[in-house]
Amino acid sequence: MNDCHIHFFSDQFFAALGRQRAPTSPQSAADIVATLGWDPPGSPEELADRWVKELDRAGVARTALIASIPGDEPSVARAVARHPSRIVGFFMVDPTAPDAPARTEQALHRLGLRAICLFPAMQRYSLHDTRVKEIVQLAAAHAGTAVFVHCGALSVGVRKKLGLPSRFDVHYGNPLDLHALAADHPGVPFIIPHFGAGLFREALLVADLSANVYLDTSSTNRWMAYHPGLTLPAVFGQALEVAGAERLLFGTDSSFFPVGGTGWSTTRS
Ligand SMILES: [Zn+2]
Repeated sequence: MNDCHIHFFSDQFFAALGRQRAPTSPQSAADIVATLGWDPPGSPEELADRWVKELDRAGVARTALIASIPGDEPSVARAVARHPSRIVGFFMVDPTAPDAPARTEQALHRLGLRAICLFPAMQRYSLHDTRVKEIVQLAAAHAGTAVFVHCGALSVGVRKKLGLPSRFDVHYGNPLDLHALAADHPGVPFIIPHFGAGLFREALLVADLSANVYLDTSSTNRWMAYHPGLTLPAVFGQALEVAGAERLLFGTDSSFFPVGGTGWSTTRS
């Protein structure tokens, strides 16, 4: 079994949150971790070792680890270098950032990462934006690269815990906006996590129309509360019927130690 969805909350990730929390006198990664009451991640290699132990404990062969803030690609690259047969590197890109194409090139070509993660609601951009097309073209030009697109409800638990504002716009996370990208790049796998996190029908629709669209099963799937009477077995049944087992990816959305819940809950937490 593989896990296609674990967040890599590195020291750099916490340090970035520390800068966001107090721009004039940034809090250190250690301060942030202490505030959260979580275990310090240590170096990327130490954190990678810890994850591999966790994979062993759970009987998971390989996992994706997601660099969960733009610019943290090097941390995940170090985790991949430490355990190349166990870890696949994913990384968040903000296509509206001027350095996004260069960072993406570097992550794919130099750092050996394998999937670009887009969160359009988080940085408020349309999937039809030419800057998104440019990033997806980089994926298409580098065989074996997937594009993960967070759709539907998005609320980041760790930001809430730290009292950081989340000025997201859920309007941008519609799976239907993936259709043209998927059609233009049939060789690129696109992953929609959490069955579309509330936009299940739209996720199924675009998966039905596009053979290169995959769904992941991760997180608590609390979005089912938006659909009266919907049950998890029914969700799986419908996804299997439309997308088939090959395009349904197991994932947990795990993120921090000590493990006990997801710090990155995508639905109401
Ligand atoms: Zn996640």
